[in-house]
Amino acid sequence: MFENKNQSKTDLSSLGEFALIDHLTSTFSLKNKSSLLGIGDDAAVLDYSNQQTLVSTDLLIEGIHFDLSYMPLKHLGYKAIIVNLSDLYAMNGTPSQVTVSLAASNRFSLEALEELYAGIALACKNYNVDLIGGDTSSSTSGLMLSITVLGTSDKEHIVKRSGAKENDLLVVSGDLGAAYTGLQILEREKAVFLVNPNSQPDLTPYSYSIERQLKPEARKDIIELLKELKVVPTSMIDISDGLSSEIFHLAKASEVGFHIFENKLPMDPEVNLICEEFKINSTTAVLNGGEDYELLFTIAQKDFDKIKNHPLLTVIGHVVEKNAGCQLITGLGQQIEMRAQGWNSFKNNEG
Ligand code: ADP
Ligand code: MG
Repeated sequence: MFENKNQSKTDLSSLGEFALIDHLTSTFSLKNKSSLLGIGDDAAVLDYSNQQTLVSTDLLIEGIHFDLSYMPLKHLGYKAIIVNLSDLYAMNGTPSQVTVSLAASNRFSLEALEELYAGIALACKNYNVDLIGGDTSSSTSGLMLSITVLGTSDKEHIVKRSGAKENDLLVVSGDLGAAYTGLQILEREKAVFLVNPNSQPDLTPYSYSIERQLKPEARKDIIELLKELKVVPTSMIDISDGLSSEIFHLAKASEVGFHIFENKLPMDPEVNLICEEFKINSTTAVLNGGEDYELLFTIAQKDFDKIKNHPLLTVIGHVVEKNAGCQLITGLGQQIEMRAQGWNSFKNNEG
């Protein structure tokens, strides 16, 4: 972690654009039947036969979405793919192709981009998606990445944000808050490192949170599980900006309200410990933290028996009528009107 300055470096300008693209992408091969033609022509060719096509795209800017002083480039490549795949799973879809466009300043060497592509390759392998193209440019400042993911779903299985109905149950996968507490630890260690570059912090007690921040996974397993359990959610979203913000998205799209129960929110014990250390309220971390990439969805009451007691799924609330709004029922039984307060990329700069 933290920048490693003594590895061999090859100037990007010594290769030229075409040699660079070739160098970075020559080890990628196509695995999916739907990928007819990949990198190397003016456009890729895909064939989804009778399935519907899902497309989602994300832009990642150095200094806004990631900080390379504690995010190794291999992890960045991995995470950049994961956050896009997560969007397709959130539609109950199956991702099958990605494109990667990047702009890098002359601060980045060939070896640095090799690391980035090693992370991209690992994510593509783990999730069985093909890299089918992209674009490459220089940049006057820092690194920018734009990823597009393509995939499919049967028409009748696509799950939107808009299908939640009154009395449906609100379910979340995995646990929440750890990506945020991981970020708190990394920010603290970065500050310590800037003062004392020789410090050797023991980060073992925080390993789960740090992994959740640096190497998130997309919940492909949950989509497969729901299929197995024969549960089709009525609405779904992935948690990128924070639970409260995603609840508001479901509420708005479905024209409903929610009751959320504070003492049901799933949290790893490590999150509680870090929150105590930083004197943050752990419910606040869970509601507003973000970047957990868990799935948040509603199911009809009749499906409750199929998911109850499953260790990866937690019912955290239910759908109420729109005028009731989104209410957090605290551990003490108080009702607090929730406010949308997720991560917002416009509030951190130009202030
Ligand atoms: P064009 O001039 O048509 O934009 P390029 O020379 O930029 O084509 O790209 C050549 C091929 O390499 C295309 O198939 C393109 O999709 C692919 N490609 C370019 N940059 C990247 C990248 N960063 N990652 C993956 N594939 C890329
Ligand atoms: Mg191009």
